[in-house]
Amino acid sequence: MKNKIPQWNRVEIEIQSFCNRKCSFCPRYYDRTGIRKDENGKPVKKKMPSEKVYAIIDWLFDYGYKGIIRFHRLSEPLIDKRYKDFAKYAFSKGMKIKEHTNGDILRKNKELCEELDGCIDTLTIGLYNYKNYKQKQEQIKFWNKRFNKTKIKFSLPLEYTNIRQNSKIYNKQKKNDQILAEPCPQNRLKVFLIRYDGEVSLCCQDDGCEFKLGNVFTNSISDIWYSNKHTEIFNKLLKPNSRKKYKLCSSCYITSSYKSTRYGRIKNRGLLYLWRRNLINVKILNKYSQ
Ligand code: SF4
Ligand code: SF4
Repeated sequence: MKNKIPQWNRVEIEIQSFCNRKCSFCPRYYDRTGIRKDENGKPVKKKMPSEKVYAIIDWLFDYGYKGIIRFHRLSEPLIDKRYKDFAKYAFSKGMKIKEHTNGDILRKNKELCEELDGCIDTLTIGLYNYKNYKQKQEQIKFWNKRFNKTKIKFSLPLEYTNIRQNSKIYNKQKKNDQILAEPCPQNRLKVFLIRYDGEVSLCCQDDGCEFKLGNVFTNSISDIWYSNKHTEIFNKLLKPNSRKKYKLCSSCYITSSYKSTRYGRIKNRGLLYLWRRNLINVKILNKYSQ
């Protein structure tokens, strides 16, 4: 194919399917397809077999990949007791673990925090419950004390969150249709996302794996990534007005404060840019920030 694509810069291996929370901003919320929840809304609890997880890490290592890896998709990775073994294994192979968690397991388990301190390079913790600036600062202090070597970051969906399909807020939020004419932010596309059953998602929105890119249990990561099908979709979505070409993308309001070039981020347009595009509720932001 004429237009090649750059290699992925992040790999997500989802080791299990479940999350203990029901966040209104999460695409798990309305899922009834049997991927996250069954038709009655009961959560699906499935695990990727351990040998498959190790085989994927080994494949990446043999391929020469020593970049970012994480062990979730739309799930809470620390619920899985095997987490520390997978994390230690990937760490021993020189990969950089940049994990996301809701913090519920780690809050109760100081020993596990100590065990993972330094093995995880960066841990982004969701803060979901604070009611004012003081409470937010207390929670930030708590987590920063828990880890010495791991870098701690926070996600603050009460103040800023992406509007993702299948979430409760997607229906409620006033949306800016100008976003639909934008190219897909390339940081959404340069990720290799593996669901717990081995199926590959195009992006964080594609939990249904609608693009049918392949399954890592039967195809190699490089074959899937550099396939003609993936290359064509990837290149198309980096052009303006391309979202309407795909059903999932045609109602996707994911945007970025970064102005994109073809394969690199060049300029952070900042929070004001996002406020103006209805992506941040300014009133809420002012309540929690100083
Ligand atoms: S904690 Fe994360 S995965 Fe779980 S429901 Fe909330 S946003 Fe979704
Ligand atoms: S535009 Fe399409 S590929 Fe990009 S994030 Fe949205 S759904 Fe995914």
